[in-house]
Amino acid sequence: MKIYNSLTKKVEEFVPNVPGKVNMYTCGPTVYHFAHIGNLRSYLMEDVLEKLLRFSGYDVKRVMNITDVGHLSSDADTGEDKMLKGAKREHKTVMEIAKFYTDAFFADCAKLNIKTPDVVEPATNCIPEFIHMIEVLLEKGYAYKAGENVYFDTSKLDNYYVFGNQNEEELMVGVRDDVTEDENKRNKNDFVLWFTKSKFEDQALKWDSPWGVGYPGWHIECSCISMKHLGEYMDIHCGGVDNMFPHHTNEIAQSEAFAGHKWCNYWFHVHHLNDETGKMSKSKGEFLTVSLLEEKGYDPLVYRLFTLQSHYRKPLVFTYDALDQAAKTYKKLKNKIASLDCAGDVDEAAGKEWHDKFAEVVGNDVNTAMGLTLVYDVLKSDLNGATKRAVIDDFDYVLGLKLTEAADGKAGGGLGAGADSGTFNGNVDGIDDPDLVAHIEEKIAERAAAKKEKNFALADEIRAQLLAEGIVLEDTREGVKYHKG
Ligand SMILES: [Zn+2]
Repeated sequence: MKIYNSLTKKVEEFVPNVPGKVNMYTCGPTVYHFAHIGNLRSYLMEDVLEKLLRFSGYDVKRVMNITDVGHLSSDADTGEDKMLKGAKREHKTVMEIAKFYTDAFFADCAKLNIKTPDVVEPATNCIPEFIHMIEVLLEKGYAYKAGENVYFDTSKLDNYYVFGNQNEEELMVGVRDDVTEDENKRNKNDFVLWFTKSKFEDQALKWDSPWGVGYPGWHIECSCISMKHLGEYMDIHCGGVDNMFPHHTNEIAQSEAFAGHKWCNYWFHVHHLNDETGKMSKSKGEFLTVSLLEEKGYDPLVYRLFTLQSHYRKPLVFTYDALDQAAKTYKKLKNKIASLDCAGDVDEAAGKEWHDKFAEVVGNDVNTAMGLTLVYDVLKSDLNGATKRAVIDDFDYVLGLKLTEAADGKAGGGLGAGADSGTFNGNVDGIDDPDLVAHIEEKIAERAAAKKEKNFALADEIRAQLLAEGIVLEDTREGVKYHKG
């Protein structure tokens, strides 16, 4: 298997520390709000990576943290604690917020067919481990106390900028004009290991420590939680590109200073999903969640397919048009599988050949788009129906689209408005009587045909007829939308 390593900026042959075994770590969510589908793109691609490793015969142990303390509004230790913000917003306690959004996160993951990692550990479970690591860093001279906080001293490292492409501008990340620079820091990029009462008086969760009552910084949790479960040598660390700096850079700084040797060999970073405004953000426009897609009639697996169609190292732009295309593709695949004649025996030898081919092709830096192409290749091949189905089932362990279940009518139900017709016909106010929807869709199709033949009088008549029935049609750039008048 080959993966692109952000440390070396090259696609490399993957060689684990212990043959046959993979230690893998994923930065988990900060549970103060729902995850948007951009956040979930990372978890989806990491899920594919984990399953691909298993598919290729590795014994994988994967660990994920849940950030329920210490993550401030900016990744660079400024601003308000995100959890506290969530608690204030909803008039709940921080622990109630953490529980609610942790559950919501895993519910979204389940809908997207993302496997829960073998170990999931909330940061608040590991306070003694954080304190121990900070004590060792202080002893070794990599940390200092200032203004009642404990900081990591980045000047003690030969190479702090491990990912290599940060410049001074980027280092200003999160330092906004309205935020005062932390004067306790000896170097601009030093970061907090432990906060005490000297900062953020109203922090809800606090613990006793050798440096006073306080709480841990954000970065320390991933170093500690990964070492607690995976030891001092890690194979693959995953996250979104936005985690590279400062979060992953700081994780490496702490972990290697603590352990005294190289910590993690491969860094897997998933690129952003943007909306048409250029960034997926919680403050601009609608907040794109899995639930919102479901409300609009899309099966979350259609979103999974949408993300698999492009490479994880390319930024991806989300539009409903693109999601409708994915819905059509999903439906086509499902129908093709459903129409297979599965009488006869599975050709095991052919199945093994296709398995190996998939491992090689998709194993070339997680090429999911090629994996989907292979599904079509199998469908077009000379194999008998039973073998085709078995091979697609095998691939689907990695792709996670529940294709054969969908073909049997047990998954992939809602495929979005676009799946059933050539154009996107958006039912915008949830008309849920299927007979009525079918009637409207039929009229829209008739109207489109009339327009194509330049019979505009008929087209207008059809629109007027629907209006008389209380249905308003709207021609939009994405297609015809309709709602009750
Ligand atoms: Zn992390």
